[in-house]
Amino acid sequence: MIELEEALARMLRQTVPLPVERVPVTEAAGRFLAHAVTSPVPLPLFDNSAFDGFAVRSADVARAAEDRPVWLRICGHVPAGSAPCFKVEAGTAARIFTGAMMPAGADAVVMQEDTLVRGERPDEVGILDPVKPWEAVRLQGEELRPGASLLAAGARLSAGSCGLLSAVGMAEVPVGRRPVVGLFSTGSELCAPGLPLGPGMIYESNRAQLIPLLRSCGAEVRDFGSVPDEPAATESMLRRCFSECDALVTSGGVSVGELDFVRSAFEKIGGTIHFWNVAVKPGKPFVFGDWHGRKLFGLPGNPVSSLVTFWLLVRPVLLAMQGAADVSPPTLSAKLLESLHNTGHRRHFLRVKVSTAGDARQVGVQGSHALAGLAAANGLVDVPPDTSFRVGDQIIVLLLP
Ligand code: AMP
Ligand code: MG
Repeated sequence: MIELEEALARMLRQTVPLPVERVPVTEAAGRFLAHAVTSPVPLPLFDNSAFDGFAVRSADVARAAEDRPVWLRICGHVPAGSAPCFKVEAGTAARIFTGAMMPAGADAVVMQEDTLVRGERPDEVGILDPVKPWEAVRLQGEELRPGASLLAAGARLSAGSCGLLSAVGMAEVPVGRRPVVGLFSTGSELCAPGLPLGPGMIYESNRAQLIPLLRSCGAEVRDFGSVPDEPAATESMLRRCFSECDALVTSGGVSVGELDFVRSAFEKIGGTIHFWNVAVKPGKPFVFGDWHGRKLFGLPGNPVSSLVTFWLLVRPVLLAMQGAADVSPPTLSAKLLESLHNTGHRRHFLRVKVSTAGDARQVGVQGSHALAGLAAANGLVDVPPDTSFRVGDQIIVLLLP
């Protein structure tokens, strides 16, 4: 049995990033950047107006007031997407629109709401409010200079960062390829939901939780269904999955029972087991192995165990395969509304629900089979062996998706 941190470190040491591919920026959110990116251009690209209004010389309108408009002759129009080829001379103003390029001579914009245009003076605009030099002007390069660092290698691309990459003119980005991950459940007791349940059978539920978890980690999932607890069926399923996938997640059949065939079948087809059994509850009988460089993550069959071990051990490896710089789980600090106890000798990841106010409490029964509590939870709390956390304690919650 090995400690969680050691298990994870060993897995990450053996993880080789998948090849880099270029994808359209519009498809890149959630992917991990393969190289650092710097900006080839300044942002804003040129001096432009922050509002619809009039580009003026600020000195001309210094005395403008609501009851004493300063009248300026309208010398031109600048819609967004055009380059003005005239100059705003003293005593004149240019009609301008949000994002349009500032004409030469002007050093400020008066927003339309602070101006007056009269039918009888169509060529003039009355300015009702003074503006400071460069007021309502977005200056070239004030946000980013050319060559500025935009994103680091291994950064996860958010929606906002994809917008930024587009704004500096990038159509494609280099990202780590997404792993193709196979998935199957083992167990002769498993019946597909929707079919009539035979005596002693249960509905198969692990794939329904593992598929979205895999996708949330960027994996392309190949779902191979379920196999009964039979050595030959398990072997041929393992062979098939490894021939088609970069990695494989299995559920069940990794415990000590004589009907647990995943480990023996995996070794039979030439796989190497790096470790089995991790010192966590729920989820001890976790298997990590390698078949010609393709990884096996053998999760325990108990539903809570399979989810917890996936989140603690499989997620980081899947992210590392895509080139992620940070594979640590998302966490939140929360205050306990009720005490948590671990009287056992293995650290226990208890299921909790954290409110938006930052309060946490246990949910449901804390058994490795107890799906109702898992469904109500949005986080895990790592409680060390023989330890209690008290009401009011500030604790770290590992957030579940
Ligand atoms: P195992 O790890 O195969 O010994 O399974 C442990 C427990 O989890 C048993 O009660 C199984 O019936 C249950 N179990 C295994 N696989 C699944 C599954 N895919 N869906 C729901 N329960 C499962
Ligand atoms: Mg089983």
